[in-house]
Amino acid sequence: MRDEEKAGKLGSNPTSRSEFDFIERIRHRARSHLKNSSLTLPPSSLLLGIGDDAAIIQQFAGRYTVITTDLLIEEIDFRLDTTTPWLLGHKALAVSLSDIAAMGARPRFALLSIGVPRAVWDSAFVDEFYEGFFSLAEVFGVALIGGDVSRTPERIVIDSIVIGDVTHGRAVRRSGARAGDHIFVTGALGGAAAGLRFLERGARLRGKRTRSTHSRMVEQLILRQLLPEPRVTWGAMLGEESLATAMIDISDGLSSDLMHICRESDVGAMIDAARIPIDPLVVNLCGRRALDPLLLALHGGEDFELLFTIHPRDLRRLPRRVGDVPIAYIGDVTKDAGHIRITEGSHVWSLEPQGFHHF
Ligand code: ADP
Ligand code: MG
Repeated sequence: MRDEEKAGKLGSNPTSRSEFDFIERIRHRARSHLKNSSLTLPPSSLLLGIGDDAAIIQQFAGRYTVITTDLLIEEIDFRLDTTTPWLLGHKALAVSLSDIAAMGARPRFALLSIGVPRAVWDSAFVDEFYEGFFSLAEVFGVALIGGDVSRTPERIVIDSIVIGDVTHGRAVRRSGARAGDHIFVTGALGGAAAGLRFLERGARLRGKRTRSTHSRMVEQLILRQLLPEPRVTWGAMLGEESLATAMIDISDGLSSDLMHICRESDVGAMIDAARIPIDPLVVNLCGRRALDPLLLALHGGEDFELLFTIHPRDLRRLPRRVGDVPIAYIGDVTKDAGHIRITEGSHVWSLEPQGFHHF
């Protein structure tokens, strides 16, 4: 932002926290986190981080740069009454890490920009938000190298950018699936959508105050919505080992995201309902509430699992689990361009994409 705006801001409200101090604090936080992290690249790769007009990165020979950005808008992508600033900071980074993972790349750097109303700026929101962000950045050795701050009239706006890299030619696109490839998904599906339904029905995170087993299970589903775990290790492995022929992260819902692969690859898909890894909590809790677990797993978004295809000859090289995250084989790529079919016992249905759309 321009200096006169900053001066105006400070001048008009001398009690408000200073933007300069804020950036200085973020700058130190970002530096100490870099020093503590054993996962980061040699320091030569980041020549200049926060504090100048722009950051400078030294590129490694033989590697491609992969960049993504995600916008989170209050009341559209999140609501302050259902989440916490910490969880929001965590999620802002998680969704971008998930995109980098879906390219088969490894995340290295982040830029984070926020626009907040004055009342939010004057509260503890921003500090907690950055704590959530850094807690995830530290897990994967991602360095915060820049961002921006401004004021909005009413609602919070967040823009999260992540830069990653991958060996030349190993990035995984949506367009590489071929008929005969096998389709896999990491983890379990439907949890995030179920969590959102519970939030819409008034359930909230209560933490230690939660007593009954039932409420604890509901909380776990809510956390699948508010605290997604991006599949960073799986994604980078599937790219670097040249295993996946196509890949996407499940943000809109399995039916929609599989259709993206089909359209870009000019293929179709046949999946088996019995093989869809439905989140066990969804099976347990939602069957009783007229929320069909299979439909939540097929069309519910925001699980941030990875959906990918594998050539049959590479199946032997494919691990069945990385860390504590398993994968499930759910079906095959077909020649039937643009059509997804789903088998349920002896029935075969056409599966229409019904995932999330902003408009
Ligand atoms: P300019 O007006 O040149 O954009 P800023 O004061 O906005 O300067 O930014 C100064 C430095 O602080 C830059 O390195 C920028 O990337 C960093 N920065 C600003 N806001 C943030 C933020 N919210 N998070 C991280 N870094 C930030
Ligand atoms: Mg700026």
